Amino acid sequence: MKILAVGKNYSAHIKEMHSERPDDPVIFFKPETAVLRNNAPFYYPEFSNDIHYEVEILLRISKTGKYIDEKFAHNYFDAIGIGIDFTARDIQWKAKEKGLPWALSKGFDGSAPISKFIDKSKFDDIKNLGFSLLLDGELRQQGNTSNMLFSFEEIIAYISKFVLLKKGDIIYTGTPEGVGPVKPGNKLEAFIEDEKILEVEIR
Ligand code: MG
Repeated sequence: MKILAVGKNYSAHIKEMHSERPDDPVIFFKPETAVLRNNAPFYYPEFSNDIHYEVEILLRISKTGKYIDEKFAHNYFDAIGIGIDFTARDIQWKAKEKGLPWALSKGFDGSAPISKFIDKSKFDDIKNLGFSLLLDGELRQQGNTSNMLFSFEEIIAYISKFVLLKKGDIIYTGTPEGVGPVKPGNKLEAFIEDEKILEVEIR
């Protein structure tokens, strides 16, 4: 199983990061060791003092595909979930400043809490799907998939030009605005529409 993620896919988040709108989807990887399932707690790592949450809608790939045509990309994922793209922002900025890759700031162990997956047929319209994140009960991020710069289908088509997608792979589709730091003792709760499907305690 592999995890791919899209950066800069919501314009208000691009603005808050003082970043530029990309011409193509910005793709990065998280290793399998990043995954936290079943609402497992997140342990604050010693190498960072600025871990940020980013709530994101997840796609679960349902069959193998390479050079997938955007028109048929909907056939290649069967379920939707929600996840946190934990980011060591201090490590990321340090790397960015020097023009170096920031892989470790996004790929460290525990950086990918993942919810259960829900069959996509259960949703009325996945192109207009609301999602949100609470920190200690307070609303911090609220997004809607209708605001993505690159659609689920465009993301799958683009990634599959470079990387063979396989059943069980997971794609993080980008975060809306409102990202921010966590500290030990915090509790994150992530919702798709009105249903809470992920909870992460920071320890
Ligand atoms: Mg992200």
